[in-house]
Amino acid sequence: MTLVIYNTLTRDKEPLQPIEPGKVRMYVCGPTVYHEAHVGHAMSSIVFDFVRRYLEYRGYEVRHVMNFTDVDDKIIARANETGEEPGVIADRYVAQYQEQLDQLNVLRPTIFPRVSQTIPDIIKMVQGLIEQGHAYETPSGDVYFRVRTDTDYGKLSRRRLDEAISGTRVSSSEEKEDEGDFALWKAAKPGEPSWDSPWGKGRPGWHIECSAMNLRYLGEQIDIHGGGNDLIFPHHENEIAQTESYTCKTFARYWMHNGMLQLKGEKMSKSLGNLVTIDQFLSEHDSDVLRLMIAGSQYRKPLAFNDDVIADNERALSRLLGALRPASGSITSGPAVDELAVQVRRVREGFEAAMDDDFNTAGALGSLFELVRAVNTARAAGVGGEVFAGAQTELRTLVGVLGLRLQAPKSDGQSASPFVDLLLEIRTDLRKAKQWALADKVRDRLKDLGVIVEDSPQGSTWRMGE
Ligand SMILES: [Zn+2]
Repeated sequence: MTLVIYNTLTRDKEPLQPIEPGKVRMYVCGPTVYHEAHVGHAMSSIVFDFVRRYLEYRGYEVRHVMNFTDVDDKIIARANETGEEPGVIADRYVAQYQEQLDQLNVLRPTIFPRVSQTIPDIIKMVQGLIEQGHAYETPSGDVYFRVRTDTDYGKLSRRRLDEAISGTRVSSSEEKEDEGDFALWKAAKPGEPSWDSPWGKGRPGWHIECSAMNLRYLGEQIDIHGGGNDLIFPHHENEIAQTESYTCKTFARYWMHNGMLQLKGEKMSKSLGNLVTIDQFLSEHDSDVLRLMIAGSQYRKPLAFNDDVIADNERALSRLLGALRPASGSITSGPAVDELAVQVRRVREGFEAAMDDDFNTAGALGSLFELVRAVNTARAAGVGGEVFAGAQTELRTLVGVLGLRLQAPKSDGQSASPFVDLLLEIRTDLRKAKQWALADKVRDRLKDLGVIVEDSPQGSTWRMGE
């Protein structure tokens, strides 16, 4: 099977053919670090974590870069509000987001570059664009990209230049040659962080940072460029314009965009004020619940975030955990065992076919839940031994590709399970020795602790009571 990826540039699914066989260079736009990250940020990081984990499962070596925008108007505005240095604010939220990514089991990108650490690269690129005639300096010391020199400008967002101009959020400047031109470098205003440059003290515009970081850490051409679909225009359009004008080469082969997380019908964002922070979410739910929620939806579509969806995925998580309960019997041959073995082979095929189709995580989860049903049916039929254990191992392997940890919550007794298993083993010995009173005492005392023991011809099992 070939892995196909939906490419926003062509609006089509295309087979993955990396520039260098076996290696994938992937760049994903990261957050602007001026406030606590919310679950919308987590969604983008988790979507691209699915992509990375599956590529690695498929044997690709992934070089994954995610930036932090630590120089930005919003950070400066926040610093003016709080009286802190912008760098201090940025450092705090960079450290916090990295920690949250660990809690969400997102593999750490190979490199986390920051704008403040990439200034010489940015200046070099801006200078090159000026020399090539693609950019110009204004009398006030700003530098703008000359959009009309880029003949295919608008190819990603499919906007004509005139439409693109009316869509820009940047206010027009008297000094711009053309309304659609965008800032590569902004002259410093009093009290702002600034760096020396050939155009005087200033700081980079937003778009140029990603072009410069790509060039520095991944080279002139990359395989996958990702981010939220709110970045297609103008950010990614402008990244393409800068990089391709500078290198005269195709920049990214595949442009991947995730849909937005929606809270009460609107995109979750700081500016709209409708958000749930990652810490708030994780204080009430397991990180697997968020992953299951995102995996259960098509990554390019908007995802509604609400209590019902959370509750559904809490249940999905307990079903997955339930499949990992120990065998209740020891049957190792016969039709029930054969049936389980067949299901185990099928599930991997189904999982891979789904993931090969533009990372269809919902389809992949569907295969996993077929395995959950097969394991539970086999357990009820008394299947144990190697085939049963193998099915559970397969389940653990495949959920791992989706970054699920399947850690049982502490309250449901899973952390005590080796000890309960030990008590049941002793109780079985007591019953064999006809020590009924002691055996009953073990059962009754466990019941007091909320553990229900059930005896059957295949042996004793236990579960947590209500
Ligand atoms: Zn970017």
